Amino acid sequence: MTTVSTSDAAYDVINPATEQIVRTVAMADAAAADAAIVRARGAFDSWRRIAPADRGRLLRRFAEQVDAHLEELAQLEVANAGHTISNARWEAGNVRDVLTYYSAAPERLFGRQIPVAGGVDITFKEPLGVVGVIVPWNFPMPIAGWGFVPALAAGNTVVLKPAELTPLTAMRLGELALDAGIPEGVFTVLPGKGSIVGQRFVDHMDVRKIVFTGSTEVGKAVMAGCAQHVKRVTLELGGKSANVVFADSDLEKAAATAPYAVFDNAGQDCCARSRILVERRVFDRFMELLEPAVQGVRVEDPGLDTAEMGPLISRKQWDTVASYVPDDAPVAFRGSAPEGPGFWFAPTVLTPADPRDRAVTEEIFGPVVSVVPFEDEADAIRLANDGPYGLSGSIWTNDLGRAFRVARGIETGNLSVNSHSSVRYSTPFGGFKSSGLGRELGPDALDSFTDVKNVFLATEG
Ligand code: NAP
Ligand code: MG
Repeated sequence: MTTVSTSDAAYDVINPATEQIVRTVAMADAAAADAAIVRARGAFDSWRRIAPADRGRLLRRFAEQVDAHLEELAQLEVANAGHTISNARWEAGNVRDVLTYYSAAPERLFGRQIPVAGGVDITFKEPLGVVGVIVPWNFPMPIAGWGFVPALAAGNTVVLKPAELTPLTAMRLGELALDAGIPEGVFTVLPGKGSIVGQRFVDHMDVRKIVFTGSTEVGKAVMAGCAQHVKRVTLELGGKSANVVFADSDLEKAAATAPYAVFDNAGQDCCARSRILVERRVFDRFMELLEPAVQGVRVEDPGLDTAEMGPLISRKQWDTVASYVPDDAPVAFRGSAPEGPGFWFAPTVLTPADPRDRAVTEEIFGPVVSVVPFEDEADAIRLANDGPYGLSGSIWTNDLGRAFRVARGIETGNLSVNSHSSVRYSTPFGGFKSSGLGRELGPDALDSFTDVKNVFLATEG
């Protein structure tokens, strides 16, 4: 790998389940970010010209490298982010699958032929240049892949900044890309601070697009910075998604699955269904069913195959989450968590009397859920839409018409009926309102990594 100049800052990566140092990582400084951007700009001219089939083949080789190192990547994520081993294996597999999915794209990056008088009119989808991908700590592998894979497939080169807390799997992916034969400079991973390396991506003229995933607060600043260069930007931001449970649903199944829709990844999931809205006439029955389900969530050493939830990412995150559960909090019941070192937080169910309670309105990004009653369908939609976010959500009902009415009524980008799935690499993902801008994944993601060029060729003399 090319050596990059680093700032004096070296960062100690901490295992959140043990509080032990995993590794010390050298942090890139602004000069290193600039140098990497210049190299990526240089690599762009040849990368965009590689024959489409060959670019596809290189992405498939990259997928094979990820597959061959899947267990290593997964174990690295358990140690770095405290993800359960079963989740971490899925996450590494997701990078592989996204690479495979978009490896078909270079040969299918179709333009159009548009009927015009006097000649032939053709559109091309041209790559943008250098794409800067800025990744948060909650899903280091998948969120990186959703940005860098379609960017590369469309013919762009990529500089990627992992979160300061979780650089290890992204750094390994950068090495695997080189092992797969992706040319030097095409995909560069730069561990560093957001305020330094991320900010350079935003400010540098030669970065033509930013893919940012993280907090709404930083996302707004990134968008404002991009405006200086009319830089393209995709934002995936926060959420406070509703899990809407109607009385006519399979209540047992709704209650059995609800904990996993919010406590997965210790609630550090932008799609977490952290508000459960329950039709009032079945509220008490739902809570009776929810209690054993919450207590059954296995919170333990994330390296164990049986683990369903690990620790929070950091002490700082633990303090933030704990602030939503003060001594007088309306706790209905809690699950369990290990004692001793590690940033453990037991799954917690609140029943706030006031729907304006900050536990109901703010993104907590931890294993805390609020359960709120509603009166009827209109009330459910009103409550679900109450707030600045619109990322995800679930609807539980056995009435097909109601399922579609409510799905159309909720202002959110990704909904699931009678399940909690939200992100598939073959379907679009992104937010309404303050949850984001643009869509990732699926067949259309390539549009946000290309600009349309129109060419008219005169055929008359
Ligand atoms: P964050 O503070 O916004 O950080 C996200 C990334 O931006 C990190 O890599 C961070 O670097 C970087 N950054 C910070 N300041 C920057 C700046 N001035 N310019 C450029 N980059 C900068 O968010 P977080 O604390 O990592 O993650 C939690 C939040 O992200 C939650 O609100 C959550 O909902 C949201 N999120 C949304 C999605 C989604 O898909 N919609 C997915 C995951 C997370 P450092 O690591 O150095 O701070
Ligand atoms: Mg932050």
